[in-house]
Amino acid sequence: MKLWKCWNCPDAKQPMKPGYDFVAERPVCPLCGTDGELPENKNEIVPRVVLHFDPPASDRPSSRGKGKGICACSGKKLIAGGFRGTGETAQVTCPACQQTRAFIEAQAAEDVDPMYDVPMHDVPVG
Ligand SMILES: [Zn+2]
Ligand SMILES: [Zn+2]
Repeated sequence: MKLWKCWNCPDAKQPMKPGYDFVAERPVCPLCGTDGELPENKNEIVPRVVLHFDPPASDRPSSRGKGKGICACSGKKLIAGGFRGTGETAQVTCPACQQTRAFIEAQAAEDVDPMYDVPMHDVPVG
């Protein structure tokens, strides 16, 4: 499955609306039906970058918040395998990573950690 963004959906045409995000094998919007494989629609459905979750390493207090470069969904090295990742849960776009225990626990920790006292959940991810 791949990640896509539809710029044709009505929401995407409002200011500050980041488009409609969906996950599908082909670039066809499930809401408005726009087929991104047609040449005239190639700017309407755009691919999103898959950002995996790179869980911050808790066993190294000196590098708190830094990950080990291993993505949560597959356990593969991020850099060696050509994957991109982030330790910020709000930035993660990989649906598989979002299901992992490490991600869910990190998100829960952010809710109570005074380091993150700014609500992050409504920040649009582009
Ligand atoms: Zn659409
Ligand atoms: Zn992932």
